[in-house]
Amino acid sequence: QERDALSRKKHNIRVSGSNIPPPLQNFEELKSRYNCKSYILRNLTELGFKELTPIQRQAIPVLLSGRECFACAPTGSGKTFAFLCPILMKLKRASKDGVRAVILCPTRELAAQTARECKKLAKGKKFYIRLMTKQLTKTADFSKFPCDILITTPFRVQFAVRKRKLDLSKVEFLVLDESDRLFEMGLVKQVDLVLKACSNPSIIRSLFSATLPETVEELARTIMHDAVRVVIGTKNS
Ligand code: ADP
Ligand code: MG
Repeated sequence: QERDALSRKKHNIRVSGSNIPPPLQNFEELKSRYNCKSYILRNLTELGFKELTPIQRQAIPVLLSGRECFACAPTGSGKTFAFLCPILMKLKRASKDGVRAVILCPTRELAAQTARECKKLAKGKKFYIRLMTKQLTKTADFSKFPCDILITTPFRVQFAVRKRKLDLSKVEFLVLDESDRLFEMGLVKQVDLVLKACSNPSIIRSLFSATLPETVEELARTIMHDAVRVVIGTKNS
């Protein structure tokens, strides 16, 4: 416990919530503590990553423990892998049994970038990782649509849910990435629709953000259950 506190202090990690798992010390602990498959560790090495970023140290164990997570860390601090890593670990292997994870990004560009990162981390494992494009919303028969991880803007996915009967009732993981920007861009209504469509009662939601406006705090309070709040401070905050 003492050690956890020291480690958090060292990396400017502030947490609130009950029963918070200790931060990771290094990538090796992903294997020793959480039995991370070697393809993921290999891909992280291939990406040239030597150390975990502070948000990754704390948010990964929170999500791996099956807890919801409300995470705030500056732009460029590695939030993407902080949610991709636990999702891949939890999904374990590909399945054709409906959409299992949804990642909402505020823009098409961010969604495309996140899909690329996801494919890099999943390399060597045959997951169905889908970027929801306009084409896909027009042509896909979603009832025959194997998809482990769907990466999309709120607009595209709510459209597919409403008009094309995309079924999100089996989704186990929902990430709202850059949630501050989802608000700035006025996407609340679409996000709400997606939240409702993801009706699996045991869903794990997480919210990632670079800033903490009251709108985001409010959303976290309304949608999350017993979440762990992780905030990465800057040197002078
Ligand atoms: P954020 O979403 O917090 O703005 P990103 O997830 O986009 O940040 O990451 C920013 C950059 O840092 C990306 O190029 C990513 O590949 C890289 N990165 C992520 N994690 C690590 C790490 N542990 N070590 C080195 N680079 C990393
Ligand atoms: Mg990001």
